[in-house]
Amino acid sequence: MEKLLLFDIDGTLTRTENGYLPFNQAIFQTFGIEGDIRMVVPDGNTDPLIVRDIFAAANVQIDIDEARWRQFAANLCASYGQHVARGATTVRALPGAAELLQELSRRDDFSASVVTGNFEASAMVKLTAAGLVDYVTRGAYASDSDHRPDLPALAKRRWEEWTGRVIHSDRCVIVGDTPNDLACARANGMKCLLVGTGRYPVEDLEYWQPDACFADLADTSAVLTALTNL
Ligand SMILES: [Mg+2]
Repeated sequence: MEKLLLFDIDGTLTRTENGYLPFNQAIFQTFGIEGDIRMVVPDGNTDPLIVRDIFAAANVQIDIDEARWRQFAANLCASYGQHVARGATTVRALPGAAELLQELSRRDDFSASVVTGNFEASAMVKLTAAGLVDYVTRGAYASDSDHRPDLPALAKRRWEEWTGRVIHSDRCVIVGDTPNDLACARANGMKCLLVGTGRYPVEDLEYWQPDACFADLADTSAVLTALTNL
């Protein structure tokens, strides 16, 4: 029986150095405000809620409509692309991420997609920069909803429409690095594997009792065995 794996991006598949540069630039370009993502904890959150947190931390009151969010997403994507192209910002695959996704792509009992708090356009920039974009199908993004627990069901539906097959939620596994990823899985009746490559060490993650937990994704066969047994 096949399983659908829904990978988080930041801290799970990739790590970004100096990601605050394009993010802050996009905030300034879009809203005319000197916001700073380093003032908030972005892990496990969605980009629109991160922007709201930044404005709250800076004591800025602002109403943001749909058109402005689309503009922000476009600015963020362009800014990320420019910073990555000139090496000011780097995005690299975390240990074992590429090997795991490559192995999954060779198997017919697993499919890999994404559920992420990034806008779709910036998710594509990061996955491309890290060399992972060819191994995941279209998932669900902050551009679909800023409420992360909405995203897994949407990613599942997109996969079902794309493949023409139905998959039950308990055959879906969220792979993430924060308690928010776990909460998101639980809210959707999905399984959850957490990795300690983000802000939280594996000891902290185990406390929240995910279905499986690893320090990183480096041991491909151990991770595959765990995923098979979930
Ligand atoms: Mg993450």
